Amino acid sequence: MGFLVLLVFVAAIYFIPTIIALGRGKQNAVAIFALNLLLGWTFVGWVVSFVWSLTNDPVPVSILTQPVQQFGLTNVRICPHCHSSIPAEASVCRYCQRDVAALPRQLN
Ligand SMILES: [Zn+2]
Repeated sequence: MGFLVLLVFVAAIYFIPTIIALGRGKQNAVAIFALNLLLGWTFVGWVVSFVWSLTNDPVPVSILTQPVQQFGLTNVRICPHCHSSIPAEASVCRYCQRDVAALPRQLN
């Protein structure tokens, strides 16, 4: 019985990197588990999988850096006469050629 407890204890220590990876919801938890399982018995393999489990998953760059202007949603408004998209600072609609009221300046 003491041997079984010892075995579970050792296995728990051995698979700490995998446990951490699963606990942190790592995208590559399976790869960390594979490295942990196959090379964990070498000290270097265990340390590499341990450090790997502590790294953060990369956030897609496009979500972080893409400016909203790229979608053409800013600096645009709708002409009240023909409902076309026109530049926010336009005073004459380029589609229906009618005067559109200039936007009130934002008060800061
Ligand atoms: Zn218009």
